[in-house]
Amino acid sequence: MVGPTIGIDLGTSYSCVGVWQHNQVEIISNDLGSRTTPSWVAFTDMERLVGEGAKNQVLTNHMHTIFDAKRLIGKRFSDGTVQEDMKLWPFKVIKGTSDIPKIVVAYKGEEKQFSAEEISSMVLGKMKDIAEAFLGKTVNDAVITVPAYFDDSQRQATKDAGHVAGLNVLRIVNEPTAAAIAYGLEMRIDISRETNVLVFDLGGGTFDVSLVNIDENGKLEVKAVAGDTHLGGQDFDNKMVDHLIKEFKRKKKIDIQGNLKATGRLRVSCERAKRQLSSSIETIIEIDSLHKNVDFNTKISRAKFEHLNADFFNKCIKTVESCLKDAKMDKKDVDEVVLVGGSTRIPKIQQLLQEFFNGKELSKKIHADEAVAYGATVIAAKISGEISQKLKNLMLKDAEEYKLDDQLYKKRVIARNALEKYIYEVSSKITTIGDTNKTRLHNEDMKKMEDAITDATESLDMDKLSEVDEYEKMLNQLQKLCVPIISKIE
Ligand code: ADP
Ligand code: MG
Repeated sequence: MVGPTIGIDLGTSYSCVGVWQHNQVEIISNDLGSRTTPSWVAFTDMERLVGEGAKNQVLTNHMHTIFDAKRLIGKRFSDGTVQEDMKLWPFKVIKGTSDIPKIVVAYKGEEKQFSAEEISSMVLGKMKDIAEAFLGKTVNDAVITVPAYFDDSQRQATKDAGHVAGLNVLRIVNEPTAAAIAYGLEMRIDISRETNVLVFDLGGGTFDVSLVNIDENGKLEVKAVAGDTHLGGQDFDNKMVDHLIKEFKRKKKIDIQGNLKATGRLRVSCERAKRQLSSSIETIIEIDSLHKNVDFNTKISRAKFEHLNADFFNKCIKTVESCLKDAKMDKKDVDEVVLVGGSTRIPKIQQLLQEFFNGKELSKKIHADEAVAYGATVIAAKISGEISQKLKNLMLKDAEEYKLDDQLYKKRVIARNALEKYIYEVSSKITTIGDTNKTRLHNEDMKKMEDAITDATESLDMDKLSEVDEYEKMLNQLQKLCVPIISKIE
């Protein structure tokens, strides 16, 4: 018998898997009872660990414990974002053949190199195992989600990771689309008019706001995206860590700053405390022997936590504004606001968002950190025909209509990427050419080029451009200016 099809949310920090059973979505718990599993892989002298097992031993094995593979997948080593991210990772990444980034680890006493696809395939393999353990049968087919802004190379690499994990990837689906489908927003009875869904996804290390439009036929299309690739739960944890380091220093006269093991243990406690503060207004932190034999026992309130992170939280709302601006839309035009990502369980975030939308009810019936996997599972069941015909007619549109890789949206992403890439190339050229006699000779030209790059970067950062032709025009202007100058000084 053919096994069932699963839906997988392959997250930057956590992954989640679901299966369609008894006419509904079942989000599957891992062997430790958690419904989300860290997207972490660790290598030791003895074994390879994936998920909680990998994350739990990071303090004693940080050089060989890999996370954030999603930030690398489908990218080149020379990519600006890879170069920046590398500075923050404790593990080693090198340039492999064809500019492919390779992660270097020691495994069973030998040096090994893995691509991001391979690490992601280990995480996907773990999610497959979790599903198989629950179902008691083999699983072959899966739907996997990716961020809406992923380009073709990142999508293909994610698909490849699925294949390496032994999965037949039926479809790659955009995360915000899956979230909208999870809420059944595309199959409402009153679908006679089009619906605008704002998907607010605040996860562990990334923040994505997307505007998904659903037309009269239930066809979904991502109209605009905004966000911050480095804003999420980890940042909130870190604020609490910094605060408690100061408190420990004040109370015990001991500075643990720079002590990796102590700050690491504190960070684990802070993440737990943060989760508790989403349901209680105060929580305690107790760490035995934080430094030598000195214990740390303290209390932290929800108000304090909110105060520490006020700037981050406000930034999230600003990003929603900019996404709406990008979509040329007023907040009154938003019909549904959908919460996605574990960090949207923070009450203050929900409050600010609801206030921004003038008191509108937020869609949060489905656990925020499971919404994407939930939607992926609905799509998986639908493609594989597991959703019964009756139900299908009642609730769902034809599977083909989920093929929503909106052409225009894709073109925009490509145009923007091309511009970003060129800006990055010229900036690195300016740095590598540096200050030589030849460049001094063309001082004025260099200045012109630098100014043009600064302007272009600013236009991108401030979201001044949004259409394909705007990106293309800017790229053309830059090339016209820079190509002759670079050829002169090189
Ligand atoms: P990803 O970024 O991989 O998509 P998730 O959406 O699962 O991951 O988000 C993970 C983040 O959500 C972590 O930083 C975690 O601490 C945070 N989180 C999970 N549950 C809660 C909660 N109840 N309150 C606050 N933060 C939470
Ligand atoms: Mg996510």
